[in-house]
Amino acid sequence: MAIQAGRLNILNDVAPRADGAYVVYLLQQANRAHGNPALEYAVEEANRLGLPVLACFGLLDGANGFPEANARHYAFLLQGLADAKAGLDKRGIGFVMRKASPADIAIDLAKNAALLVLDRGYLAIQKSWYGQIVDAVKTRIVQVEGDVVVPVAVASGKHEYAARTLRPKLHKLLDEYIAPLTQRQVKHKAGRGLPTSEIDISDPDAVLAGMSLDRDVAPVRRFIGGETEARRRLAAYLAGPFASYGAERNKPEAAAASHMSPYLHFGQISPVEIALAVRAAKKGGDADKASYLEELIVRRELAMNHVHYTKGYDSYAHAVPEWARKTLAEQADDPRPHAYTERQLAEGETHDIYWNAAQAEMRETGYMHNHLRMYWGKKILEWSPSPEEGFRRTLRLNNRYFLDGRDANSFTNVAWIYGLHDRPWARRKIFGTVRYQSENSLRKFDAKAYLKTVEKLCRAEA
Ligand SMILES: Cc1cc2nc3c(=O)[nH]c(=O)nc-3n(C[C@H](O)[C@H](O)[C@H](O)COP(=O)(O)OP(=O)(O)OC[C@H]3O[C@@H](n4cnc5c(N)ncnc54)[C@H](O)[C@@H]3O)c2cc1C
Repeated sequence: MAIQAGRLNILNDVAPRADGAYVVYLLQQANRAHGNPALEYAVEEANRLGLPVLACFGLLDGANGFPEANARHYAFLLQGLADAKAGLDKRGIGFVMRKASPADIAIDLAKNAALLVLDRGYLAIQKSWYGQIVDAVKTRIVQVEGDVVVPVAVASGKHEYAARTLRPKLHKLLDEYIAPLTQRQVKHKAGRGLPTSEIDISDPDAVLAGMSLDRDVAPVRRFIGGETEARRRLAAYLAGPFASYGAERNKPEAAAASHMSPYLHFGQISPVEIALAVRAAKKGGDADKASYLEELIVRRELAMNHVHYTKGYDSYAHAVPEWARKTLAEQADDPRPHAYTERQLAEGETHDIYWNAAQAEMRETGYMHNHLRMYWGKKILEWSPSPEEGFRRTLRLNNRYFLDGRDANSFTNVAWIYGLHDRPWARRKIFGTVRYQSENSLRKFDAKAYLKTVEKLCRAEA
């Protein structure tokens, strides 16, 4: 199947360099060797030009580390890259990894390339790499948007007000974009003479040990990185728990969620591949499928839309809508019956045993169910000295402990706690007209069973 034209963005519209030795692909967002439109585009072009493909990855380390990334995130990332490299090897695609910024490695390898292919993320730091690359590289550059179902600007040319305004725009395009991606045969295998890797990623633990990073947040046993593991998990999920997604997706103890978010965050699986598998699932009815695709496509791509079209998406002043900031400011002097420091929050030392359990799941295992993330975030707003400080704390904790943190979804959903993509509700203390979530929401599921589950999960990490 051809790659949809809407996924392609030509960033430097010149002919491929005639004396190029390879097609280089900066595999920075889509960390996978299969189901990756940017990689398949690179293979297709390389076949046409009679050249091999060289994929590359710039590993940010030490003072230049990726903002807020720690040992937990890097362990998962490196496991994923080891798996991607094994997949690339089998296909005859070269892979070069260096301790360098993604922009620097791409600029350097592009010097001898006929064509540079980029994949696409939406965070400010990723956009800054693309800007540096476009300024420095003289050869043809094509960017391929393959970590969303519908390319962000194709879906909408503006910041969307809410899911209800983006949903119809996405739905119109789903038939075009939820389509299988044919794997191209590599005609010219990577061999000797191509640049070689500075880093041996076949031993991700050794690479991690050699890095200079924040090790206070440890890697987790609960999730192993990589596309092979992502596909194994997806298949097991669709063969079992998925059948109750529609009815039980808001029950954290029921284990009906897919746990795909870390794999999506690191580009270790394609959302299109997940959507196709969900549509084809034998278990699960129409309601389960519709509900899952609503989260995977509408909610996730609403987050991409927000981050793409909001300068300063990580700040309270820019990410939170005006009506919400106004109502929260009006209540800023309301007494806080419970007030905690950020350390107390991080350690789960509040009066609320269920909140503490959710925090423990996050801190020790890197994950929390969506229903609890909402409760967790609303309580931080309630227990913080000001909404601005609550926002900053929520984002810091979110990005520090979640494996799927530092994502478009992180920034957008933390802002949702403060009113983004939502509407005013009945006025109350501290929250004003921003949606409140009471302890009653814990009655909608078996909270005691959840406590036991978390104890078990945390014991397994110890
Ligand atoms: C305060 C708060 C913070 C959050 N922080 C993050 C974060 O850092 N990273 C992150 O990826 N998600 C975040 N979310 C969204 C959501 O909670 C997670 O995506 C979801 O819980 C991941 O688990 P899962 O893969 O098992 O989800 P499933 O229920 O199996 O859903 C499948 C996929 O749909 C998408 N999805 C599900 N719920 C949402 C949602 N509410 N918004 C957008 N996409 C969704 C995710 O990509 C998810 O992997 C946050 C939500 C809240 C309320």
